[in-house]
Amino acid sequence: HIGKRSNQPITFFSDSMSERAATHVKRVSELVEGLERGELILFGQPQYAPNKTLCGLEILARWQHPEEGILGPAAFIPVAEESGLIVRVERAIIEKTLEYLPAFRKRHPHVRLSVNISAKHFAEPDFVQVLLEMINQSECEASDLILELTESAMVHDIGLVAEKMNSLRSAGCEFSLDDFGTGYSSLSYLRQLPFSEIKIDRSFVMDAPEGGTSADIVEMIVKLGETLKTRVVAEGVENREHVRFFDDRYPNVNLQGYYFAKPEPVGHWLSEPSGFSLA
Ligand code: C2E
Ligand code: MG
Ligand code: MG
Ligand code: MG
Repeated sequence: HIGKRSNQPITFFSDSMSERAATHVKRVSELVEGLERGELILFGQPQYAPNKTLCGLEILARWQHPEEGILGPAAFIPVAEESGLIVRVERAIIEKTLEYLPAFRKRHPHVRLSVNISAKHFAEPDFVQVLLEMINQSECEASDLILELTESAMVHDIGLVAEKMNSLRSAGCEFSLDDFGTGYSSLSYLRQLPFSEIKIDRSFVMDAPEGGTSADIVEMIVKLGETLKTRVVAEGVENREHVRFFDDRYPNVNLQGYYFAKPEPVGHWLSEPSGFSLA
């Protein structure tokens, strides 16, 4: 009964919620300092073409935290998205990527770098303009970059999304649809957007060799890639069974995963050979 409870204090936050809120606030202010001190660093994970030559490098953000060591994106990307710091975080990542690229190019002349772009950052009205300015002020070309978007980038005004993608595409940037299959994109939207690549989410790749639904979904995504004339990349390739699954059935799919290489500080990829030998 309402009457019975009316003299109890109304609490909106449980202890654990307020603790979490406090941790969040602390992380946000640490991240602001971290950005000022340049603590965000680049890791990279290679992608291999079916002939096992290097065909891409995905840039993955890390935070060199002064007390806690190297933190993965799960520790700061969600916080950055909620607080709006994601724009500064990703500009810092893009700037460092553009600084790194010339050295990488000397070693791997035709390989592009992929960077992850948050839906929230992509939705910024000046996203296109600021990115093109950063590229112009660097030694790089727009065609050196692949922007990885997730399906969440497409939930907003699709006309506007298409317009932004098209202007970057005509400047030379490519787009990759990351974690495909885990979101809510509509196939009619995908047809209208200039993606060059679709990445099959790790969760499907993981179980694909056992057959069942995951294998069916992989099949469907590969077919979709053929229809839309995009490359397809499988993420989370962890073992020989995964490699064999794709080699046997889908020999055009590019592969990325721990089986080939874990993400490493980008300096590592300046001395790495261009091929991978299946020992
Ligand atoms: P993602 O873009 O799907 O990147 C792939 C993630 O899968 C990476 O995790 C990578 O280390 C991991 N991975 C690669 N191969 C394997 C494998 O064989 N097995 C398993 N279990 N995992 C594998 P990481 O580096 O922790 O990044 C996680 C996510 O954080 C990324 O997922 C991406 O969505 C996000 N992220 C990273 N950097 C940025 C950034 O600059 N901006 C935004 N918005 N997100 C970022
Ligand atoms: Mg990605
Ligand atoms: Mg992914
Ligand atoms: Mg993923």
